[in-house]
Amino acid sequence: MTQLDVRDKATRELLGRVRIAGEPDAREAIARARDAFGTWRDVPVVERARLFFRYADALERRHEELALCVSRENGKTLADARAEVRRGIEAVEFACGMPSLMMGDALSGVARGIDSTVIRHPLGVCAGITPFNFPAMIPLWMFPIAVAAGNTFVLKPSPQTPLTSELLAEAARECGFPPGVLQIVHGGAETSQLLVDHPDVAAISFVGSSNAARQVQERAVRAHKRVQALGGAKNYLVVMPDAVTPATCEAVISSSFGGAGQRCLAGSVLVAVGNAGDALVPMLVEAAAKLRVGRGAESGVDMGPVVSDEALTRINGYVERALASGARLRHPQEHPQAASGNDRGAFLPPVIFDRVDPSSELAREEIFGPVLAIVRAQSLDEAIDVANSSRYGNASSIFTRDGGSAQRFVSRIEVGMAGVNVGIAAPMAFFPFGGVKDSIFGDLRCHGKDAVAFYTQQRVTISRWPS
Ligand code: NAD
Repeated sequence: MTQLDVRDKATRELLGRVRIAGEPDAREAIARARDAFGTWRDVPVVERARLFFRYADALERRHEELALCVSRENGKTLADARAEVRRGIEAVEFACGMPSLMMGDALSGVARGIDSTVIRHPLGVCAGITPFNFPAMIPLWMFPIAVAAGNTFVLKPSPQTPLTSELLAEAARECGFPPGVLQIVHGGAETSQLLVDHPDVAAISFVGSSNAARQVQERAVRAHKRVQALGGAKNYLVVMPDAVTPATCEAVISSSFGGAGQRCLAGSVLVAVGNAGDALVPMLVEAAAKLRVGRGAESGVDMGPVVSDEALTRINGYVERALASGARLRHPQEHPQAASGNDRGAFLPPVIFDRVDPSSELAREEIFGPVLAIVRAQSLDEAIDVANSSRYGNASSIFTRDGGSAQRFVSRIEVGMAGVNVGIAAPMAFFPFGGVKDSIFGDLRCHGKDAVAFYTQQRVTISRWPS
């Protein structure tokens, strides 16, 4: 039996251990989920929804406990962790509406004496594979909607942040989820692959990096399964000259450095249009200098560590290569000193580069750390071209007071989530979450009506009644 030690990302203190699922364990979990589906699918949808009302209440009661767990095993600030748990609870509240969400259509007299209906049915066993950066919210995007729709679910959380899922499952058991309806298996890519390949798993929801998302999608499609695989991102924030204000500066700082830049919606490139950069860059530098980097669970801290030493080394590599190629470092003043140790997580200060070449790796690749690249553009159209040249298309925002510019941006930008004067264009749970291009593999997105469509199949019935 292999155990995985889970440590506080800021202090390296041991928080707990989880059991890594071997192949027999994962197969057993799938078999239990398949058996449970036999009865769960017939539980009336109103009763299933009622279970989720109880579950939302249970998570509400455990909000602080969950947030603390997220903050410690991920490293993000407690405020960020609390907000994440709130977003997760909202997805559970969305699942409570399943009786209306699953409702079909009917038409009588489609031909003489013939009526027709279309009804949504659950798929069977669904599996979810989730990343480290939102250990509460992303699992909650998946299993509540799947299970409320009548499926059973096997969740494989990130091995970097597995403890929050255990709390989510514990709360589910306490609310009366029947055995086998929700199970957690721990592991890495191999365990994911077993879930993707197993013939008794009908659908795969994946959120993580683009390379893994592509592999998961291709594998699932080969096995003729339903799959949604959300991938990586590089999100562009376009600032027009009429929007150089303290509010824009605050939104950019929070978007770029919140969660230490480890959010799939993090604004990692700022495209300053016209002379916007001249006044905005000094404001950003001043604001970045004030950010307090430290243990996320401590009050007054604005930015925690990144998730691992490997992540730190990767991010440092980008910074070093940018410096070697002559990029202009604006914050900190000198080569940022990254630090980690036996009793200290992987800390890095917020980093800002200005006048970055839009074709450089700094402006194009997903760094997934607290590094903001500022690109200068002459016009809004040039800024949109810079953003649209990305292989990713998760989110992008414009900051402006001008309706025409905002409208042009929203109609031309190639992303799944567009923002106007917001740093993080995150849809609420009743709207779909996901991008385009290499930010998604598969068609249907997470939560909202897309998720209901993803976790159900439609059956049309045509009935003739003898008169
Ligand atoms: P990751 O791809 O390393 O891991 C994600 C999950 O997939 C983990 O559970 C991991 O064990 C598993 N995994 C890893 N390699 C795999 C493979 N080859 N086949 C199958 N499963 C595999 O991602 P991460 O580092 O945990 O998370 C960060 C990434 O997730 C970033 O790229 C970020 O942009 C992305 N992300 C995207 C969204 C979105 O909505 N598009 C949301 C959150 C995070």
